[in-house]
Amino acid sequence: LDCFTESFELRGRSIYVTASIGIAVAPVDGHTPKALMHAAEAAMERSKERGGNCSNFYARHMDEQALAQLYLEQELHFALERGQLYLDYQPQWDLRSGRLHGVEALLRWRHPQLGLISPAVFIPLADSTGLIAAIGAWVLREACLQLRRWAKLYPAASLRMSVNVSPRQFDSGTLEDDVAEAIAMSGIAPAQLELEITESMMAKNVAAVALTLKNLRTQGVRVAIDDFGTGYSSLAYLADLPIDTLKIDHSFVRPLETKPGCKAIIASVMALARGLGLQVIAEGVETSAQLAYLRQVGCDEGQGFLMARPLSPARVAALFGQPSPLPGLNGLEPAAAPDCVAD
Ligand code: C2E
Ligand code: MG
Ligand code: MG
Repeated sequence: LDCFTESFELRGRSIYVTASIGIAVAPVDGHTPKALMHAAEAAMERSKERGGNCSNFYARHMDEQALAQLYLEQELHFALERGQLYLDYQPQWDLRSGRLHGVEALLRWRHPQLGLISPAVFIPLADSTGLIAAIGAWVLREACLQLRRWAKLYPAASLRMSVNVSPRQFDSGTLEDDVAEAIAMSGIAPAQLELEITESMMAKNVAAVALTLKNLRTQGVRVAIDDFGTGYSSLAYLADLPIDTLKIDHSFVRPLETKPGCKAIIASVMALARGLGLQVIAEGVETSAQLAYLRQVGCDEGQGFLMARPLSPARVAALFGQPSPLPGLNGLEPAAAPDCVAD
Protein backbone atom coordinates (compact mmCIF):
# COMPACT_ATOMS: atom_id res chain seq x y z
CA LEU A 1 0.00 0.00 0.00
CA ASP A 2 2.91 2.31 0.74
CA CYS A 3 4.21 1.77 -2.81
CA PHE A 4 0.94 3.10 -4.16
CA THR A 5 1.21 6.44 -2.35
CA GLU A 6 3.66 7.48 -5.10
CA SER A 7 2.29 8.51 -8.49
CA PHE A 8 2.89 6.56 -11.73
CA GLU A 9 4.03 8.27 -14.91
CA LEU A 10 1.68 7.52 -17.79
CA ARG A 11 2.23 9.29 -21.11
CA GLY A 12 3.82 12.22 -19.30
CA ARG A 13 1.03 12.53 -16.69
CA SER A 14 1.11 11.63 -13.01
CA ILE A 15 -1.52 9.04 -12.16
CA TYR A 16 -2.46 7.98 -8.65
CA VAL A 17 -3.98 4.55 -8.03
CA THR A 18 -4.90 2.76 -4.82
CA ALA A 19 -4.99 -0.97 -4.14
CA SER A 20 -7.56 -3.20 -2.47
CA ILE A 21 -5.73 -6.23 -1.09
CA GLY A 22 -7.03 -9.63 -0.01
CA ILE A 23 -4.69 -12.03 1.75
CA ALA A 24 -5.08 -15.80 2.10
CA VAL A 25 -2.65 -18.02 3.99
CA ALA A 26 -1.85 -21.66 3.19
CA PRO A 27 -2.71 -24.17 4.44
CA VAL A 28 -5.40 -22.79 6.83
CA ASP A 29 -7.34 -20.92 4.10
CA GLY A 30 -6.91 -23.57 1.37
CA HIS A 31 -4.75 -26.41 0.11
CA THR A 32 -4.96 -25.69 -3.62
CA PRO A 33 -4.11 -22.56 -5.62
CA LYS A 34 -7.79 -22.33 -6.63
CA ALA A 35 -9.01 -22.44 -3.01
CA LEU A 36 -6.42 -19.87 -1.96
CA MET A 37 -7.35 -17.52 -4.80
CA HIS A 38 -11.01 -17.87 -3.90
CA ALA A 39 -10.25 -16.97 -0.26
CA ALA A 40 -8.03 -14.05 -1.30
CA GLU A 41 -10.77 -12.72 -3.58
CA ALA A 42 -13.34 -12.83 -0.78
CA ALA A 43 -10.89 -10.90 1.42
CA MET A 44 -10.27 -8.41 -1.43
CA GLU A 45 -14.04 -7.81 -1.76
CA ARG A 46 -14.10 -6.96 1.94
CA SER A 47 -11.30 -4.41 1.34
CA LYS A 48 -13.32 -2.86 -1.52
CA GLU A 49 -16.43 -2.66 0.68
CA ARG A 50 -14.39 -0.78 3.26
CA GLY A 51 -13.64 1.87 0.65
CA GLY A 52 -10.49 0.36 -0.83
CA ASN A 53 -6.88 1.35 -0.18
CA CYS A 54 -6.62 -1.24 2.58
CA SER A 55 -5.88 -4.94 3.12
CA ASN A 56 -7.81 -7.77 4.76
CA PHE A 57 -6.96 -11.30 5.75
CA TYR A 58 -9.47 -13.98 4.75
CA ALA A 59 -11.91 -15.13 7.44
CA ARG A 60 -14.54 -17.85 7.15
CA HIS A 61 -17.46 -15.45 7.77
CA MET A 62 -16.58 -13.73 4.46
CA ASP A 63 -17.86 -16.79 2.59
CA GLU A 64 -21.02 -16.73 4.69
CA GLN A 65 -21.48 -13.02 3.86
CA ALA A 66 -20.97 -13.73 0.16
CA LEU A 67 -23.57 -16.54 0.33
CA ALA A 68 -26.06 -14.28 2.13
CA GLN A 69 -25.50 -11.62 -0.54
CA LEU A 70 -26.10 -14.20 -3.27
CA TYR A 71 -29.33 -15.34 -1.59
CA LEU A 72 -30.55 -11.73 -1.32
CA GLU A 73 -29.71 -11.15 -4.97
CA GLN A 74 -31.71 -14.20 -6.06
CA GLU A 75 -34.67 -13.19 -3.90
CA LEU A 76 -34.60 -9.64 -5.31
CA HIS A 77 -35.03 -11.12 -8.80
CA PHE A 78 -38.50 -12.32 -7.81
CA ALA A 79 -39.46 -9.54 -5.37
CA LEU A 80 -41.40 -7.53 -7.95
CA GLU A 81 -43.44 -10.40 -9.41
CA ARG A 82 -44.11 -11.80 -5.94
CA GLY A 83 -45.59 -8.48 -4.84
CA GLN A 84 -43.00 -7.89 -2.11
CA LEU A 85 -42.18 -4.34 -3.21
CA TYR A 86 -44.29 -1.34 -2.29
CA LEU A 87 -43.96 2.41 -1.89
CA ASP A 88 -44.23 4.66 1.13
CA TYR A 89 -44.62 8.39 0.62
CA GLN A 90 -42.93 11.08 2.70
CA PRO A 91 -44.81 14.41 2.72
CA GLN A 92 -43.01 17.57 1.65
CA TRP A 93 -44.31 20.82 3.09
CA ASP A 94 -44.28 24.38 1.78
CA LEU A 95 -42.41 26.14 4.58
CA ARG A 96 -44.13 29.49 3.90
CA SER A 97 -47.80 28.49 3.61
CA GLY A 98 -47.52 25.30 5.68
CA ARG A 99 -49.36 23.37 3.00
CA LEU A 100 -48.67 19.81 1.95
CA HIS A 101 -47.04 20.40 -1.41
CA GLY A 102 -45.66 17.08 -2.53
CA VAL A 103 -44.55 13.59 -1.53
CA GLU A 104 -41.42 11.57 -2.18
CA ALA A 105 -41.98 7.94 -3.19
CA LEU A 106 -39.68 5.66 -1.16
CA LEU A 107 -39.28 2.04 -2.17
CA ARG A 108 -39.77 -0.72 0.40
CA TRP A 109 -39.06 -4.47 0.23
CA ARG A 110 -40.84 -6.75 2.68
CA HIS A 111 -39.45 -10.28 2.36
CA PRO A 112 -41.59 -13.09 3.88
CA GLN A 113 -38.65 -14.57 5.82
CA LEU A 114 -36.19 -11.69 6.17
CA GLY A 115 -38.78 -9.01 6.95
CA LEU A 116 -38.35 -5.38 5.94
CA ILE A 117 -35.02 -4.90 4.18
CA SER A 118 -33.43 -1.44 4.19
CA PRO A 119 -33.21 0.44 0.88
CA ALA A 120 -29.58 1.11 1.82
CA VAL A 121 -29.06 -2.66 1.35
CA PHE A 122 -31.26 -3.60 -1.60
CA ILE A 123 -31.07 -0.47 -3.81
CA PRO A 124 -27.28 -0.85 -4.35
CA LEU A 125 -27.93 -4.55 -5.03
CA ALA A 126 -30.65 -3.70 -7.56
CA ASP A 127 -28.21 -1.23 -9.09
CA SER A 128 -25.26 -3.60 -9.36
CA THR A 129 -27.37 -6.43 -10.81
CA GLY A 130 -29.20 -4.20 -13.31
CA LEU A 131 -32.56 -5.13 -11.73
CA ILE A 132 -33.11 -1.43 -11.00
CA ALA A 133 -34.20 -0.86 -14.63
CA ALA A 134 -37.34 -3.02 -14.23
CA ILE A 135 -37.90 -2.04 -10.61
CA GLY A 136 -37.41 1.67 -11.38
CA ALA A 137 -39.95 1.50 -14.22
CA TRP A 138 -42.45 -0.10 -11.83
CA VAL A 139 -41.76 2.60 -9.18
CA LEU A 140 -42.50 5.32 -11.76
CA ARG A 141 -45.79 3.68 -12.81
CA GLU A 142 -46.93 2.94 -9.27
CA ALA A 143 -46.07 6.44 -7.96
CA CYS A 144 -47.92 8.16 -10.84
CA LEU A 145 -50.94 5.84 -10.45
CA GLN A 146 -51.02 6.61 -6.72
CA LEU A 147 -51.05 10.33 -7.46
CA ARG A 148 -54.04 9.71 -9.73
CA ARG A 149 -55.84 7.67 -7.04
CA TRP A 150 -55.41 10.52 -4.54
CA ALA A 151 -56.62 13.07 -7.11
CA LYS A 152 -59.78 11.03 -7.73
CA LEU A 153 -60.41 10.65 -4.02
CA TYR A 154 -59.62 14.22 -3.21
CA PRO A 155 -59.76 16.54 -6.24
CA ALA A 156 -58.69 19.67 -4.30
CA ALA A 157 -55.32 18.17 -3.42
CA SER A 158 -52.88 18.64 -6.26
CA LEU A 159 -49.59 17.15 -5.20
CA ARG A 160 -46.19 16.80 -6.79
CA MET A 161 -44.70 13.31 -6.83
CA SER A 162 -40.92 12.98 -6.41
CA VAL A 163 -39.36 9.72 -7.61
CA ASN A 164 -35.75 8.67 -7.03
CA VAL A 165 -33.89 7.61 -10.14
CA SER A 166 -30.57 5.78 -9.97
CA PRO A 167 -27.65 6.21 -12.39
CA ARG A 168 -28.22 2.74 -13.85
CA GLN A 169 -31.69 3.81 -15.03
CA PHE A 170 -30.02 6.54 -17.10
CA ASP A 171 -27.66 3.96 -18.60
CA SER A 172 -30.49 1.55 -19.44
CA GLY A 173 -31.70 3.86 -22.23
CA THR A 174 -35.37 3.29 -21.38
CA LEU A 175 -35.83 6.04 -18.77
CA GLU A 176 -37.50 8.50 -21.15
CA ASP A 177 -39.94 5.83 -22.36
CA ASP A 178 -40.62 4.63 -18.81
CA VAL A 179 -41.44 8.18 -17.71
CA ALA A 180 -43.65 8.80 -20.76
CA GLU A 181 -45.51 5.53 -20.15
CA ALA A 182 -46.06 6.26 -16.43
CA ILE A 183 -47.47 9.70 -17.25
CA ALA A 184 -49.68 8.43 -20.09
CA MET A 185 -51.16 5.48 -18.19
CA SER A 186 -51.89 7.52 -15.05
CA GLY A 187 -53.05 10.67 -16.79
CA ILE A 188 -51.20 12.99 -14.40
CA ALA A 189 -49.77 16.31 -15.62
CA PRO A 190 -46.05 15.88 -16.45
CA ALA A 191 -45.19 18.89 -14.24
CA GLN A 192 -46.55 16.94 -11.24
CA LEU A 193 -43.67 14.49 -11.58
CA GLU A 194 -40.21 15.37 -10.26
CA LEU A 195 -37.28 13.02 -10.81
CA GLU A 196 -34.61 13.01 -8.10
CA ILE A 197 -31.14 12.35 -9.40
CA THR A 198 -27.86 12.40 -7.48
CA GLU A 199 -24.69 14.30 -8.19
CA SER A 200 -22.77 11.05 -8.63
CA MET A 201 -24.40 10.86 -12.06
CA MET A 202 -22.42 13.91 -13.16
CA ALA A 203 -19.18 12.08 -12.51
CA LYS A 204 -20.07 9.62 -15.28
CA ASN A 205 -21.03 11.36 -18.46
CA VAL A 206 -22.45 14.84 -18.13
CA ALA A 207 -23.17 15.16 -21.86
CA ALA A 208 -25.30 11.98 -21.96
CA VAL A 209 -27.08 12.88 -18.72
CA ALA A 210 -27.74 16.40 -20.03
CA LEU A 211 -29.34 15.03 -23.20
CA THR A 212 -31.64 12.67 -21.31
CA LEU A 213 -32.60 15.44 -18.86
CA LYS A 214 -33.33 17.86 -21.70
CA ASN A 215 -35.62 15.29 -23.35
CA LEU A 216 -37.38 14.66 -20.03
CA ARG A 217 -37.77 18.41 -19.54
CA THR A 218 -39.33 18.62 -23.01
CA GLN A 219 -41.92 16.13 -21.76
CA GLY A 220 -42.62 18.66 -18.99
CA VAL A 221 -41.13 16.65 -16.10
CA ARG A 222 -39.25 18.41 -13.27
CA VAL A 223 -35.72 17.51 -12.12
CA ALA A 224 -34.24 17.70 -8.60
CA ILE A 225 -30.68 17.13 -7.37
CA ASP A 226 -30.97 14.81 -4.34
CA ASP A 227 -28.45 14.84 -1.46
CA PHE A 228 -27.05 18.09 -2.86
CA GLY A 229 -23.54 18.87 -1.72
CA THR A 230 -22.48 15.33 -0.86
CA GLY A 231 -21.54 13.71 -4.13
CA TYR A 232 -19.43 15.79 -6.49
CA SER A 233 -17.05 18.67 -6.03
CA SER A 234 -17.69 20.51 -9.31
CA LEU A 235 -20.68 22.82 -9.53
CA ALA A 236 -20.22 23.48 -13.25
CA TYR A 237 -23.02 21.06 -14.15
CA LEU A 238 -25.56 23.35 -12.44
CA ALA A 239 -25.11 25.92 -15.20
CA ASP A 240 -25.47 23.35 -17.99
CA LEU A 241 -28.24 21.04 -16.85
CA PRO A 242 -31.98 21.72 -16.83
CA ILE A 243 -32.66 21.53 -13.08
CA ASP A 244 -35.63 22.81 -11.05
CA THR A 245 -34.82 21.91 -7.44
CA LEU A 246 -31.92 21.37 -5.05
CA LYS A 247 -32.51 19.04 -2.11
CA ILE A 248 -30.31 19.94 0.87
CA ASP A 249 -28.97 16.69 2.28
CA HIS A 250 -29.90 15.69 5.84
CA SER A 251 -26.19 15.60 6.75
CA PHE A 252 -26.24 19.42 6.64
CA VAL A 253 -29.66 19.78 8.30
CA ARG A 254 -29.30 17.39 11.23
CA PRO A 255 -26.15 18.90 12.85
CA LEU A 256 -27.45 22.47 12.30
CA GLU A 257 -27.43 23.29 16.00
CA THR A 258 -24.13 21.59 16.82
CA LYS A 259 -21.92 22.38 13.80
CA PRO A 260 -21.86 26.12 12.98
CA GLY A 261 -20.45 25.32 9.51
CA CYS A 262 -23.74 23.68 8.51
CA LYS A 263 -25.64 26.96 8.82
CA ALA A 264 -23.09 28.63 6.54
CA ILE A 265 -23.41 25.78 4.00
CA ILE A 266 -27.22 25.98 3.98
CA ALA A 267 -27.16 29.78 3.63
CA SER A 268 -24.73 29.41 0.70
CA VAL A 269 -26.91 26.77 -0.98
CA MET A 270 -29.85 29.17 -0.62
CA ALA A 271 -27.86 32.00 -2.26
CA LEU A 272 -26.71 29.65 -5.03
CA ALA A 273 -30.26 28.44 -5.67
CA ARG A 274 -31.67 31.96 -5.73
CA GLY A 275 -29.00 33.04 -8.22
CA LEU A 276 -29.87 30.11 -10.48
CA GLY A 277 -33.63 30.46 -9.99
CA LEU A 278 -33.99 27.01 -8.34
CA GLN A 279 -36.36 25.76 -5.65
CA VAL A 280 -34.85 24.33 -2.42
CA ILE A 281 -36.15 21.43 -0.32
CA ALA A 282 -34.47 20.52 2.97
CA GLU A 283 -34.38 16.83 3.94
CA GLY A 284 -34.21 15.21 7.37
CA VAL A 285 -35.86 18.01 9.39
CA GLU A 286 -36.13 16.56 12.89
CA THR A 287 -36.32 19.53 15.30
CA SER A 288 -38.23 22.81 15.48
CA ALA A 289 -34.91 24.69 15.75
CA GLN A 290 -33.85 23.25 12.38
CA LEU A 291 -37.22 24.16 10.90
CA ALA A 292 -37.00 27.72 12.28
CA TYR A 293 -33.56 28.24 10.73
CA LEU A 294 -34.65 26.86 7.36
CA ARG A 295 -37.63 29.21 7.30
CA GLN A 296 -35.43 32.10 8.36
CA VAL A 297 -33.09 31.60 5.37
CA GLY A 298 -36.07 31.30 3.01
CA CYS A 299 -35.94 27.56 2.24
CA ASP A 300 -39.01 26.76 0.10
CA GLU A 301 -39.93 23.27 1.32
CA GLY A 302 -39.02 20.73 3.95
CA GLN A 303 -39.49 17.05 4.72
CA GLY A 304 -38.51 15.14 7.81
CA PHE A 305 -39.59 13.17 10.86
CA LEU A 306 -40.60 16.42 12.65
CA MET A 307 -43.51 16.81 10.24
CA ALA A 308 -44.06 13.24 8.98
CA ARG A 309 -42.26 9.96 8.40
CA PRO A 310 -42.70 8.06 5.12
CA LEU A 311 -46.37 6.96 5.18
CA SER A 312 -48.74 4.51 3.49
CA PRO A 313 -51.05 6.00 0.81
CA ALA A 314 -54.01 5.91 3.24
CA ARG A 315 -52.10 7.82 5.90
CA VAL A 316 -51.07 10.44 3.34
CA ALA A 317 -54.73 10.77 2.28
CA ALA A 318 -55.68 11.30 5.92
CA LEU A 319 -53.44 14.39 5.93
CA PHE A 320 -55.54 16.14 3.27
CA GLY A 321 -57.71 18.63 5.12
CA GLN A 322 -55.70 18.32 8.36
CA PRO A 323 -54.10 21.41 9.94
CA SER A 324 -50.45 21.89 8.97
CA PRO A 325 -47.87 20.36 11.35
CA LEU A 326 -45.73 23.48 10.86
CA PRO A 327 -45.89 25.70 13.96
CA GLY A 328 -47.63 29.04 13.44
CA LEU A 329 -49.41 28.00 10.25
CA ASN A 330 -52.65 26.16 9.75
CA GLY A 331 -52.32 25.49 5.98
CA LEU A 332 -55.76 23.88 5.75
CA GLU A 333 -56.69 22.53 2.34
CA PRO A 334 -59.93 24.11 1.05
CA ALA A 335 -62.38 21.20 0.82
CA ALA A 336 -63.63 18.64 3.34
CA ALA A 337 -61.67 15.50 4.22
CA PRO A 338 -62.21 12.44 2.01
CA ASP A 339 -65.09 10.23 3.13
CA CYS A 340 -63.24 7.03 2.29
CA VAL A 341 -59.56 6.27 2.66
CA ALA A 342 -58.23 3.56 0.38
CA ASP A 343 -54.85 1.97 0.96
P1 C2E B 1 -33.24 9.76 -0.27
O1 C2E B 1 -33.84 9.85 -1.63
O2 C2E B 1 -32.31 10.84 0.12
O3 C2E B 1 -34.48 9.66 0.73
C1 C2E B 1 -34.53 10.24 1.99
C2 C2E B 1 -34.25 9.22 3.06
O4 C2E B 1 -34.19 9.91 4.32
C3 C2E B 1 -35.36 8.18 3.23
O5 C2E B 1 -34.72 6.99 3.64
C4 C2E B 1 -36.19 8.75 4.37
O6 C2E B 1 -36.93 7.78 5.08
C5 C2E B 1 -35.11 9.36 5.22
N1 C2E B 1 -35.59 10.45 6.07
C6 C2E B 1 -36.52 11.38 5.76
N2 C2E B 1 -36.70 12.24 6.76
C7 C2E B 1 -35.84 11.89 7.75
C8 C2E B 1 -35.53 12.42 9.06
O7 C2E B 1 -36.09 13.40 9.52
N3 C2E B 1 -34.58 11.75 9.77
C9 C2E B 1 -33.95 10.64 9.29
N4 C2E B 1 -33.06 10.06 10.07
N5 C2E B 1 -34.19 10.13 8.05
C10 C2E B 1 -35.13 10.74 7.30
P2 C2E B 1 -35.02 5.58 2.99
O8 C2E B 1 -36.48 5.44 2.72
O9 C2E B 1 -34.35 4.56 3.84
O10 C2E B 1 -34.31 5.65 1.58
C11 C2E B 1 -32.92 5.68 1.49
C12 C2E B 1 -32.47 5.94 0.09
O11 C2E B 1 -32.80 4.86 -0.78
C13 C2E B 1 -33.09 7.18 -0.55
O12 C2E B 1 -32.48 8.34 -0.08
C14 C2E B 1 -32.84 6.90 -2.01
O13 C2E B 1 -31.54 7.28 -2.38
C15 C2E B 1 -32.96 5.39 -2.08
N6 C2E B 1 -34.28 5.06 -2.62
C16 C2E B 1 -35.47 4.94 -1.99
N7 C2E B 1 -36.45 4.62 -2.86
C17 C2E B 1 -35.87 4.55 -4.10
C18 C2E B 1 -36.35 4.27 -5.43
O14 C2E B 1 -37.54 4.05 -5.68
N8 C2E B 1 -35.42 4.25 -6.43
C19 C2E B 1 -34.09 4.52 -6.21
N9 C2E B 1 -33.24 4.50 -7.25
N10 C2E B 1 -33.60 4.81 -4.98
C20 C2E B 1 -34.48 4.83 -3.94
MG1 MG C 1 -34.66 11.24 -2.66
MG1 MG D 1 -31.77 12.63 -0.14
